[in-house]
Amino acid sequence: MKSTRGLFITVKGTVQGVGFRPFVYRCALQSGITGEVRNDGTGVLIRAFGTREMLDRFTRSIKETSPPLAAVRSIDIREASADDPPAAFSIAESGSGQASEIDIACDTAVCPTCLAEMLDPSNRRYRHPFINCTDCGPRYTIISALPYDRSNTTMAAFTMCEACRNEYEDPANRRFHAQPVCCNDCGPRLVLTNGRGSVLTNTNLIDRALEMLAGGGILAVKGLGGFHLVCAADNGDAVARLRLRKRREEKPFAIMVANSEIAKRLACISPEENALLESPERPIVLLRKRGSCPGIAPEVAPGLPTLGIMLPYTPVHHLLFLDSKFPALVMTSANLSDEPMIFGDADAFAALSSVADAFLTHDRAILMRNDDSIVRVVAGKPIILRRSRGFVPEPLPSPENVDGLIALGGVLKSTVAVGRKNDCYLSHYIGPVETTQALDPMVAATNHLVSALGISPRAYVCDMHPQSLVASYAESTELPVVKIQHHHAHAAACMADNEVPGPALAIVYDGTGYGKDGKTWGGEILHASYAGFSRFGHLAYLCLPGGDEAIRNPGRIALAAIFRLLGDKAAGALPWMPPVEASAILDMVKSGVNCVQSCGMGRLFDAASALLGICTKRTYEGQPAIMLEGAADPLETGSYGSPLSVEEEGILIDGSALLCEVYDDLKSGTPVPKIAARFHTTIAQATAAAATIASQQSNCTTVCLSGGVFQNTLLVERLVPLLSQAGLTPLLHRRTPPNDECISYGQLVVAGAKRALEAGG
Ligand SMILES: [Zn+2]
Ligand SMILES: [Zn+2]
Repeated sequence: MKSTRGLFITVKGTVQGVGFRPFVYRCALQSGITGEVRNDGTGVLIRAFGTREMLDRFTRSIKETSPPLAAVRSIDIREASADDPPAAFSIAESGSGQASEIDIACDTAVCPTCLAEMLDPSNRRYRHPFINCTDCGPRYTIISALPYDRSNTTMAAFTMCEACRNEYEDPANRRFHAQPVCCNDCGPRLVLTNGRGSVLTNTNLIDRALEMLAGGGILAVKGLGGFHLVCAADNGDAVARLRLRKRREEKPFAIMVANSEIAKRLACISPEENALLESPERPIVLLRKRGSCPGIAPEVAPGLPTLGIMLPYTPVHHLLFLDSKFPALVMTSANLSDEPMIFGDADAFAALSSVADAFLTHDRAILMRNDDSIVRVVAGKPIILRRSRGFVPEPLPSPENVDGLIALGGVLKSTVAVGRKNDCYLSHYIGPVETTQALDPMVAATNHLVSALGISPRAYVCDMHPQSLVASYAESTELPVVKIQHHHAHAAACMADNEVPGPALAIVYDGTGYGKDGKTWGGEILHASYAGFSRFGHLAYLCLPGGDEAIRNPGRIALAAIFRLLGDKAAGALPWMPPVEASAILDMVKSGVNCVQSCGMGRLFDAASALLGICTKRTYEGQPAIMLEGAADPLETGSYGSPLSVEEEGILIDGSALLCEVYDDLKSGTPVPKIAARFHTTIAQATAAAATIASQQSNCTTVCLSGGVFQNTLLVERLVPLLSQAGLTPLLHRRTPPNDECISYGQLVVAGAKRALEAGG
């Protein structure tokens, strides 16, 4: 008889609430071992007994396969005493122990198995609007604390029926310990109400909701991470009404379509883009419109060649498309203007009663908002533009210990990030934090992560801007506060995302950030390590006549730039600008009164867009630059003279000189699409040249590209090959957005590095 051996195995990562124990149980039965598996605060613990061959087979199967939502980070295997092994394999009760190393799974689209059950008239969950299993459904948005047990979720309010409990307790069942398990008899209830919360109907809710949409109505629909505002995408009047009620002028709406076949009729979709559309994360994918985009009202994404499309991800979405004849539905986060997405029923009724004609909601509470994520494929690779539902709270790496650090992020595209050991947990997208009121969602996001991950806060990390609301909040607490420069945070986020040890060069192009010298930065060529940085060069300062007014009306920046070329004649240079306004702006430029100096690269793109008459008034962040990119002729390869020089203060890119060339080209009758493309190419060439000089000065060849400007596909696709040709290694963000959503992550890794340095020295 072969001798029995014993192993003690610890598996760490996202291994609870994802069907890991039944998976281990099945592996154990297949390999013939005995023992037990249990959850505890550090992960999943396994005691395994059998012959060497059986144990080898068992460990191989848990190393090589895993359930869909699990993310195994480490498997530790130790020899154990084989005295008195059990006769069978079993799933044991959860041990206690501190929940200090467990990760929470992301909210995930309904899986194909559940969907098939939902569509099967003989299944007991036929048309169940909340069907889920260990492979799919809500997680992050319903968990209040670890361990991940039903009592720590918003499903605690629902008592399982006998049939559901049998599935929940059967290790062989797909719903074994699926905490949100429920059915038509015992689960949450869907309800259709009017704007005051009065029930409209209890039967045929979906039919009634679809009737309202067909009549041009606007519905508020509760999803996984909050409410959406929904209307028929082919009904221009309905879309225009939604814009008016939501106070959203031109910012594009995302749409949802039934499947990728329909998506392909509306947009050009590459295999990479299709894979993203159909992925379990189900992000909004930013796609190039196909022709006139039949069936989509022009009001959905006015003036843009792109369209944000996603596929259904909750059972309710599937029910809506199953029964409807709509090719597409507008599906936009329910909020007013740019405020954070609404996720509570009471808030929804209070804020949206004059926006939505009816509410399709339910009684399973959402604990934390989680907007739709947005992804775009650039140069064949996905770039995340908003990292939220489906991706949060998957941990991100840090080169140093970040335990107990809480980073509060930037102002406009705000996120927070919390540290546990060497892991960074970046929150969902929060939205702008510009008012005292707007601090609440930021604090709620922080508390949710701190509580759900079992973190003890030790210090706050925030931006170094002296008038920051967020900094005032951090300083009002008992904890120490660490301040980090905005563009250093960008550089560090891109470095950490790519697991670069540093130092590295970083090109950080964005709109605005407070610089070390008190000026407004945003066109930065940096040499950065995690603990510090130096500024090798930047975009030459542009004059913003009227400060914030010039951000809303970027023609002002263009006018100030071409004043250098034309003098007072510049007053008539922009045909769309009234002469009185133009001469008032020139007076400001000449006197310097009320002029702000900024080297934000985003401002230069906005100014070029206005100069070319493409977008003269900004109604949402990034609009002029997005429309400039959209207008550019992708086949045009010409460019302008190099705006680069090396001065005493470092490498300078002269944006005003470039705008003067753009103006001359326009006057000579060159078509706008060609000029827009030449502008992009010139920026790419100047950037590559600047990086080459910085590389010679620093002996560094890695170049991290961060900042909102790198959401621009055309710029990235022109710049990356130039950097490679120069012998440099360009790195884009991989798991985090290049825009200010990455700031909290960067702040966290920088603060961790500074703390390690202080402790070491
Ligand atoms: Zn499922
Ligand atoms: Zn049930």
